[in-house]
Amino acid sequence: DDVQRLGVHESVSAVFPPDRLEAALSELDAEVELVGDDPDRAAACDGLVTFAHRDYFVGAVEWIHTIQAGYDRFPLDTFEREGVSLTNSTGIHGDSVGETVTGYMLALARRLHTFIENQHERAWDRPEWDEPFTIAGESLCVVGLGTLGRGIAERADALGMNVSGVKRTPEPVPGVEHVYANDDLHDAIAGAKFVALTVPLTEETRDLVGEPELAAMADDAYLINVARGGVVDQDALVDALERDEIAGAALDVFEQEPLPDESPLWDMDEVIVTPHAAAATRDYFREIAELVRENVGRIERGEALHNRVV
Ligand code: NAD
Repeated sequence: DDVQRLGVHESVSAVFPPDRLEAALSELDAEVELVGDDPDRAAACDGLVTFAHRDYFVGAVEWIHTIQAGYDRFPLDTFEREGVSLTNSTGIHGDSVGETVTGYMLALARRLHTFIENQHERAWDRPEWDEPFTIAGESLCVVGLGTLGRGIAERADALGMNVSGVKRTPEPVPGVEHVYANDDLHDAIAGAKFVALTVPLTEETRDLVGEPELAAMADDAYLINVARGGVVDQDALVDALERDEIAGAALDVFEQEPLPDESPLWDMDEVIVTPHAAAATRDYFREIAELVRENVGRIERGEALHNRVV
């Protein structure tokens, strides 16, 4: 079946102006239309590009494309049962998240986060002699070696870091000196100055990093989470930070977003909080358009969908 009418759901406005995506898709033969939060308009489409999930998608549309890599907000079992195809946007965030995570590590090592805070107070405060370090020669463990993990590992390797990683099937990955199997997570993270989490949130990865894993990390180590908040037991993380069991953290994702005002994470000196923006770039809509065009073409040619989740 051809895609005759393709909807762009208004929820994509969380990430970019919907009309930008609509314009970028204008060369398609399909009619592209902006769809408000309206079940009837959605039902008139053969495919729908969206950020949010709505229950009314099921039974109304055959193909949903999410503009995120994470698909934990979609009820996969229901989609499967009701014959809705879901495609995601993995594959496009290696550069953006790779740069953000490199930035976190450089900021923490070179103390830039403290200098920026001091600048607001017009405070000329040099760091203690033993606070700054260089990331060159330091170790990074990347948990999950997909698009994000590889984007981070390549950059860290180029900056002279010793990079290890954790992967379900322990085959070699460019830039990663030592690949550990999942069962060896504790060994993998125990020796690292930085631990970066880049796995999807699944039943298997929920609370992957909790009290035992935080205890396994070195007391001068930093945890970086750009995956999903649920991959970390956030209460255990706050405890570990308060008790100086690890040195600090850089967090883009949280159990509850936006991070509630009362969270102690906001006030911690060695914690960098970013608003789920590690992958943000002004070119985001272009990359989504490319993925969507690819799949519209595949549907027309009767080929298997790219980035198919269900
Ligand atoms: P990806 O599919 O390219 O990579 C995920 C990798 O994790 C795969 O290699 C997979 O085999 C591996 N994996 C899955 N379960 C695992 C487990 N239990 N143990 C070890 N490895 C496991 O996806 P991606 O594009 O790299 O994105 C990964 C996740 O990061 C997404 O699911 C999303 O939740 C999150 N993400 C966040 C942002 C952000 O803005 N902060 C942006 C993009 C993606």
